[in-house]
Amino acid sequence: MAMQNAEREVTGLGALTSFARMAAGADFALAFQAGADGLAVPLASDPGPLPQPFALGRARLETIDWSDGPRDVSGLAVPSAILLAFDRPAQQVLFVACPFAEEQRSGVLLVWLANGARVCECPFRETIGSSVHLLQAAFGQMMASQHDILDRKLASDRFHDLFETVPTGIVVLDGDTTTALVNQRAAALLDVPAGETDASQVGAQMRGLRDRCHNHDSLAAVYAPLQQDLGYSSTTVWAGPDQHIEVDTHPILGHGRNGRIWLFHDVTARERLEEELRHKADTDVLTGLANRRRFFDVANAAVQRAYAGKGADGRLALLLLDIDHFKSINDQHGHAAGDAVLRDLAPRCQAILRMRSRDMIARIGGEEFAVLLPGASAEEAKTVAERLRAAISAEPTTSGETPISITISLGGAAFQAEDQASPRSLEALLKLADDRLYRAKRDGRDRAVLD
Ligand code: GH3
Ligand code: MG
Ligand code: MG
Repeated sequence: MAMQNAEREVTGLGALTSFARMAAGADFALAFQAGADGLAVPLASDPGPLPQPFALGRARLETIDWSDGPRDVSGLAVPSAILLAFDRPAQQVLFVACPFAEEQRSGVLLVWLANGARVCECPFRETIGSSVHLLQAAFGQMMASQHDILDRKLASDRFHDLFETVPTGIVVLDGDTTTALVNQRAAALLDVPAGETDASQVGAQMRGLRDRCHNHDSLAAVYAPLQQDLGYSSTTVWAGPDQHIEVDTHPILGHGRNGRIWLFHDVTARERLEEELRHKADTDVLTGLANRRRFFDVANAAVQRAYAGKGADGRLALLLLDIDHFKSINDQHGHAAGDAVLRDLAPRCQAILRMRSRDMIARIGGEEFAVLLPGASAEEAKTVAERLRAAISAEPTTSGETPISITISLGGAAFQAEDQASPRSLEALLKLADDRLYRAKRDGRDRAVLD
């Protein structure tokens, strides 16, 4: 409907432009709108096609008195893009100003060419050249409506560009709920046709996609109010088997009633990157173990849980592990060999700790490690510590060129919720474990002290 209007009105301005050209016996007529930026935007021309927008710059057409009819082109600074567009030189020019949107330089330009200009058949040929300005009002009106149409078309083109180029799947449900407007991305995601599509089909595909997500139960709960609450809006992530999609829904106005927009944004890559960054931030580069930061995050949470727990859930133990005489290993074998020892130590400790899935080992310093044992009693912690110590001293590390024998010392502390004498904070637990580690060193190393 809007398009039909647009075509009719474009033709209207075009027809008026042709009429002006023929009536004046000119070779070329151009209706253009001047913008505040100094660019003239051609709206209609005869003959067509429309020339490109051109700078009005020095033309100063509006400052000349045109009431005596056309003027010789030689004294005028009419944009050369217009004058050079013909196969013959332009000879005369007439400008009919049709001020538009307060811009004085809009109007109709009539051009007569040298050598055998078109012959005007009109009986009023003599007077009409100077009477074209009578068309001013009609041109003004037509240009205004054409401008609106262009504006609307521009807005609609922009909307369409945006609709199709944003990296987001978009579904717009009309207020009448029978049609949905679906962009290409959403169409591919939901396996429905793009453009105007049956809303119930789109709805069914959306439900299908949601049902295939790992988190379909919680999504169903989140969307439960959607049926009753027309103003409902939410942002969720649909965790599908192959991709994670952030889904936004908001109410919008459509046909005077409540419509709804759904935005689908693929966040799989973003989430993967976030996960990668999180992992990097939490990981020690040399050993691949959790780093000090990660250890404190996990340990603090574990301590909080243990405070609130009962029985095994109210227990927690931690060990501090330090390589004995590591400085001399570096001195003897070189820093690289020392690094190899650290790298080798990590999987060996992990292998021993893997027996209990909740346990965690982190590198919290140069050659210092911390082991977190949620749920472990003091006795169990002692067993783990002894197992670690024995395993490391039993076999030399072999990752470097020469096997290097090392020993470790450990200090440990345990927390038991029911035991009021247990250290009441992570710091206190660590301090106790550190004191005991110091004792293990002082008492000869290659030992674990937990009480
Ligand atoms: P102790 O038995 O008392 O723990 O003696 P130690 O030599 O292990 O203790 P000290 O703390 O005096 O020395 C630790 C050494 O660990 C000092 C440092 O050069 C070395 N070190 C710390 N971080 C690294 C690392 O990333 N790579 C290597 N190769 N050496 C490290
Ligand atoms: Mg140390
Ligand atoms: Mg040491």
